[in-house]
Amino acid sequence: MVKILANDGIDALGKSMLKAAGFSIETNKVAQDQLAEAINREGYEVILVRSATKITAAIMDACPGIKLIGRAGVGLDNIDVRHAESKGMKVFNTPAASSQSVAELVFAHLFSGVRFLQDSNYQMRIAGETRFNELKKNYSAGIELQGKTLGIIGFGRIGQAVARMAIGMGMKVVASDPFISEVTLTLQLAQTNQEIPVLIKTTSVDELLVQSDFISLHVPGKIDGKSVIGANEISKMKTGAGLVNAARGGVIDEDALLNALDQGKLAFCGLDVFENEPTPRTDLLKHPKISVTPHIGASTAEAQERIAAELAGFIISYYGN
Ligand code: NAD
Repeated sequence: MVKILANDGIDALGKSMLKAAGFSIETNKVAQDQLAEAINREGYEVILVRSATKITAAIMDACPGIKLIGRAGVGLDNIDVRHAESKGMKVFNTPAASSQSVAELVFAHLFSGVRFLQDSNYQMRIAGETRFNELKKNYSAGIELQGKTLGIIGFGRIGQAVARMAIGMGMKVVASDPFISEVTLTLQLAQTNQEIPVLIKTTSVDELLVQSDFISLHVPGKIDGKSVIGANEISKMKTGAGLVNAARGGVIDEDALLNALDQGKLAFCGLDVFENEPTPRTDLLKHPKISVTPHIGASTAEAQERIAAELAGFIISYYGN
């Protein structure tokens, strides 16, 4: 029987699919420093991870019995993919399963930003009973998203999911992606079962910076080790614009961001990812104009179910069960 270790857990659906197909699956977490020993002792052939467990070259060298390494999610930063390939170990991931969930979190941050929820939730908890009218006044200058322009940098799976939601709620979308010149999005109206095609032609980052009321980043990570949005890019943005980063920490330069928020150049920012995860800087976490979440873009029941089903399906077809 092929033995699988899902070291960062797996949704119940994936577990039951694998068990039904005759695999043995263990979900009790093994500490990073004991991983190689456990893999060899238990004879695990398949290792599944989220982002916590790292499958390093040293682990691969110590555990020649590994055949498959699966990453529940998009990025492969925690797996030495090149080394795996050199050893004939197959690495796979689930790139599309979480796009809708990440896109919805982007909108959670946008809605928070335009109505000051990140601060109002906090202030109401500590002073809502005594300073209600003062707080009401403080948060009275909200704006609507409808009719505004959303700039999307990185127009892949998540960028396009964000665009579909934005168009669905009456926003204009401008997108920038050096590898995509145009995309026809399909908007699905659940209410009437209609499908509406919408053509989006991408534009330059400079054009997008000037036009957008809000910008959301969906690039693979820093580009050539550099932030995509730094002081120079912020200077080209509209005064009072908002930013969201649910891609990778450091895609927005954190010093430049804080400066722009403090100077009033930017109105707000939503951050799901941080340069220094899992210990982000406290001046970001405590800033009243920043809506913060602890890298939970893919953390929904639906995304985790899709991820688990995709992982299980891949393993089942790999072994031809
Ligand atoms: P994707 O590969 O489908 O899309 C990325 C896009 O970025 C591609 O179209 C690519 O052409 C484009 N791109 C590359 N370099 C660029 C540049 N310099 N400027 C503009 N665009 C550029 O990836 P995806 O699935 O949409 O994921 C996007 C990001 O979201 C990744 O960083 C991923 O790690 C992150 N992510 C975060 C969470 C979360 O929990 N917050 C969950 C899943 C994915």
